[in-house]
Amino acid sequence: MIVAIASGKGGTGKTTVTGSLAWVWNRKVTAVDLDVEEPNLHLFLKPEILGREVAALEVPVADESKCTACRACADLCQFKAISVLGSVLLTFPEMCHGCGGCIAVCPEKALSSGTRELGEILWGRAAGRIGFCMGRLRVGEAMSPPLMRAVMEKLASASPNAPTDVLIDAPPGTSCPAINAVLPSDAIVLVTEPTPFGNHDFRLAHAAFRPLEKPMAVIINRAGLGDRSVYEYCHSEHLPILAEIPFDRRLAEAYSRGRIVAEALPAMNQVFTELVCRLREWAPVESVREVALDA
Ligand code: SF4
Ligand code: SF4
Repeated sequence: MIVAIASGKGGTGKTTVTGSLAWVWNRKVTAVDLDVEEPNLHLFLKPEILGREVAALEVPVADESKCTACRACADLCQFKAISVLGSVLLTFPEMCHGCGGCIAVCPEKALSSGTRELGEILWGRAAGRIGFCMGRLRVGEAMSPPLMRAVMEKLASASPNAPTDVLIDAPPGTSCPAINAVLPSDAIVLVTEPTPFGNHDFRLAHAAFRPLEKPMAVIINRAGLGDRSVYEYCHSEHLPILAEIPFDRRLAEAYSRGRIVAEALPAMNQVFTELVCRLREWAPVESVREVALDA
């Protein structure tokens, strides 16, 4: 079972939920931070890092002595990452999506495969029982989806010794990175807060993810704050509310100290333990993803 924990805006408690769910999960589980621009799940789970590798994208490298300026590559590239100006071939590696199309169509074999560093992938184990994996985007790199895909490929290609559930901490919002983060999931859990801002961005996220046709459910954080508009929207859209996490100063204190709230507060441990049961009842997808990141 792969569950993506997502939200329409930052600061709703998505990482708090992911960390606590992983903490109380009662089967083999791997927590994956796909918020690669600002990963912070490791600050709470505090995993022992067992390995890391650089992730890179395949980009074209030109041999200008072979180029006849035929434009076949420029006409093919949908991202304007390669261009011909007069008789001069120009490449813009930072705009390249690594599809390899230009290399394939060049009749003169003037393009070969080079690499652009995207960032790094780190993996390890938290509390001796929680698998952990994260991507960290290189400073200055603009495109996060290729690194997110590399993180998930790392998960899929790791030694298939034991099945594990996967909890994805997705980046907030409704843009390309958020969509890419929930794509590999079997189900999406949206974390929101019952405030006008929370309701507004929650609706946007629901609308953005709906075309993916994945089961979606809701966790309401800071329940007791704000108004009833989020509840009314969930009711009208038949979105199940799996849990309400109360607006409680002790949660903020635990968070500010980098604690997993399910570990720090017994009442929260109970809330998240019950949430795991509800998640299973709601999305009873078989655990079929094979991962052994400590191999
Ligand atoms: S690899 Fe794809 S995206 Fe990159 S320059 Fe070539 S055609 Fe464009
Ligand atoms: S396809 Fe090859 S030969 Fe044609 S412009 Fe591009 S690099 Fe030059």
